[in-house]
Amino acid sequence: MLRRLIFCVLLTSTAVSAENLETLAERSQASARAVLGRAVDAIGGEETLRSIESVRLQLEGETWPRLQMPTPEPPFTGGFMRETLLIDFKNNRLRLEQQARGGGFENHNSIVITAGEGTNFDHRARTATPIPAGQSNQQQFVQYYRRIPNLLLRQAIDRTDSLRSLGRDTFDGRQHDVFTFVMPDTQQVAVYVDSQTHLVSKYELLTVDPLTGEDASEIVFGDYTTVGKFRVPQSWNQHLAGDAVSKFKLRAEINPSVDDASFGAPTGSFAKVDALPDTLQEEVERLADGVFVIHNVAEQNYNTLAVAMKDHIVVVEAPGSSAGADRAIKQIKQAIPGKPIRYVAMTHHHSDHIGGLRSFISEGAIVITTPANRSVVEAIAAAPQIDRLAKNPRKPEFLLIENGKRVLTDGAQSIELIDIGPHPHAKEMVIAYLPQQRVVFQGDLFFVSPNNASQGPPQASTVSFAKRIKELNLAIDRIASVHGRTATYAEFQKAVEGAT
Ligand SMILES: [Zn+2]
Repeated sequence: MLRRLIFCVLLTSTAVSAENLETLAERSQASARAVLGRAVDAIGGEETLRSIESVRLQLEGETWPRLQMPTPEPPFTGGFMRETLLIDFKNNRLRLEQQARGGGFENHNSIVITAGEGTNFDHRARTATPIPAGQSNQQQFVQYYRRIPNLLLRQAIDRTDSLRSLGRDTFDGRQHDVFTFVMPDTQQVAVYVDSQTHLVSKYELLTVDPLTGEDASEIVFGDYTTVGKFRVPQSWNQHLAGDAVSKFKLRAEINPSVDDASFGAPTGSFAKVDALPDTLQEEVERLADGVFVIHNVAEQNYNTLAVAMKDHIVVVEAPGSSAGADRAIKQIKQAIPGKPIRYVAMTHHHSDHIGGLRSFISEGAIVITTPANRSVVEAIAAAPQIDRLAKNPRKPEFLLIENGKRVLTDGAQSIELIDIGPHPHAKEMVIAYLPQQRVVFQGDLFFVSPNNASQGPPQASTVSFAKRIKELNLAIDRIASVHGRTATYAEFQKAVEGAT
């Protein structure tokens, strides 16, 4: 009798407490907790998740980075990526090796972080660059908790304060319970849990897309298998604003044995070079009378060229964002006072090169580009963004570069906009050539290291650019860039020969 009474009291109190949640946030958290609990059980259980001390993950497959392909429209030829990630959670050590190929570039790097100290090993250039302490801290590890659902759920059970239910949704034709929580790097993650299998099908992060505005970045997990006590996915696919951007096979080892050697330097010799600057300062470089490069627009590695003509200004490249471009416009007007910006030319259609176009369109500038980019510019001008073009909308006006070249001149100053395509980085690729000043301004064809690192073997993008310069017989002293500092032609030649 007594036992039965106690049992009844306990049961009642549990039932009452669930119904007694007063606010919507409380109820939302309770329902998210229930979904999380089922997901944790389905993937191996809480105790098993908490027993994870190390992981080794291998991802490999094709990539189609959004607004970074050689053409603005499909069909696209994919690039390639292979990644091996080893994390020792117990001792805060990480090793990330990535090999990527696409758009006229090849990269192979290993990042090793141990005890808050990091090094980036470039396997092509054979250099070892220290990673500043600010970038090799705990925060650096957080993004990797999103690589597999097991680590993601382990984060969620430790962060139930921000846990909320988003309700139910259909994904891939199946019913899902969706909850959200905030990770230590401030990313708010929406986790989709299959209502029947209770496995995590995908998670979403919200991001701003230059063409569609607020949009989702989705990581879709599939093809679950059993590894020890865990269920782990074997496919890892990313969609950005609805576009498939990567399709990877995933191989996960949980609690592989690790030792100090696992976090040592890669084999072979690497030359130790200086660390990269931690911050970038906005500054104006005067290349010649009336010719300026606005460096580090919005304190990012983005530059804009401004050239004074008799009664107006010609700008080449509008990278970054509307806010960044607004600041660049201010700098341009200070450097070249009393003249309107009549034209803004773009080198190619990639997202990082056109993010500031809306401000120049708002300013009244005519967009100079190659024919295939017209629709991208129209889309960006119509995108749902919050900036001055949104307050006073107008359609972009165009001056198209047809037959490979357009020359702007006022008799004294000339700018030749030359389409050097088809180029491996972008099929239509424009450079700005100033014959009097013997200056070229280019984007993504050649980079100079901001530190004392050598370049390594030349990239296909640079080799193709060098070949076109020769064919066009351009006389050049300096090459200014959308990313990085202005180089001398001698530095460029060394890079092409792979001598630096
Ligand atoms: Zn590009």
